[in-house]
Amino acid sequence: MNSTLDEWTHRCLNVSGKNFQRRDAVDLRKIISKGVSLRPQKPGSPSNGPITPSLIAMSKLNLEGNPISPIGTEIARIFDTRKIWVLFVHTAGSGVTPWRGLIILDANYRGAGQTETIFRVGLVAHELTHLLQRELNDPRYWPSGWLRFPSQTRPVGDSTNYMEVLSYIVGWTVEYDLYKEKLSTNDQQLAEKNRIQGKLRARENGIATLTDPDVRNATRFMLKMHRSVKVYRENYRAEAKSPNGRIPAGGWEYWLSEFGFSDGAVAHIKDIGAKGVVKRVSQEEADRIANA
Ligand SMILES: [Zn+2]
Repeated sequence: MNSTLDEWTHRCLNVSGKNFQRRDAVDLRKIISKGVSLRPQKPGSPSNGPITPSLIAMSKLNLEGNPISPIGTEIARIFDTRKIWVLFVHTAGSGVTPWRGLIILDANYRGAGQTETIFRVGLVAHELTHLLQRELNDPRYWPSGWLRFPSQTRPVGDSTNYMEVLSYIVGWTVEYDLYKEKLSTNDQQLAEKNRIQGKLRARENGIATLTDPDVRNATRFMLKMHRSVKVYRENYRAEAKSPNGRIPAGGWEYWLSEFGFSDGAVAHIKDIGAKGVVKRVSQEEADRIANA
C-alpha cells in the first residue's frame, strides 16, 4: 500500500525544484508530529524487534498445532533470517516500501499497535512482500527502489501496479486466514460474526480476481479497490502507455515462488480464490478512475 508518505517522498524530490510550495513544509510538520523512529529488525525475531509482534501474529498456531496462516508463517520464517530497517512515522495509516531493506509504517504501528487489528497484520505482510520484490534483479518490472534513470514513473521508490497485485494477494491471504480463525473461536456477537463473514467473502472475491489469468483486469481491480491512492493512479496512467503494462510474464504462482514462497502456500491461495467470484473492471472504468 502506498499513499500519503509515498506522495510525500515524491513531493520531497521536488523540494529543490520549482514545485516546492508552502504546503509541503506544512505536511512535513504533520508527518513528524507523532514522532519518528528508525529501528533495525534483526534476525531471530528478538522480542524488542520493531515488527516482531506482526511476525508472531502471522505465524501463530491453532489448537491442533498447525499454522493458522501458512503464508504468514512463511513470511515470518523468511524475515527471521534477515535484517531490515523499520521506520515508524505518521503516514495516515499507509505502509510504504520505498527501497530495498526498509519498510515505513504508521507511528500507530509501534509495539502492540501493529497487531491491534487483523488488517494491520495483513498490511505488514503486504509491505514485507514488497521487500522480497525489491530484491529481484529485473530493473524493468521489479525496481529495487534505488535511484535510477530513466524511470518510467519515479526515479526513486518506483513501483508497478502488478507489484501491488502480488502484495495484496499475500496480505489479503494472511488477513483471510486470521479472520477465519477468529470466526472459528465462536465467541463473537452475531453482528461481529456477520462483519467477519462479509470480510471473508470480500477477500475470497478479491483473491479470485487478483489471481485470475487476466492480469490486466487484476491491476484494474486493484486500482478500483484503492481509487484514492495517487501512486496507483499515476502507475496506471504510465502503464497504459506500456505495451505489456509493466507486467512480467510468468503468472502470480511463478513470481510468488521467486519471492520464496512454497508450493503449499500457492495451493492455499488457490483454494481461497476458488471460493470467490472474479470481479471484472472494464478499461473504461479504470481509465475514469485513473484520470479523475
Ligand atoms: Zn503496496
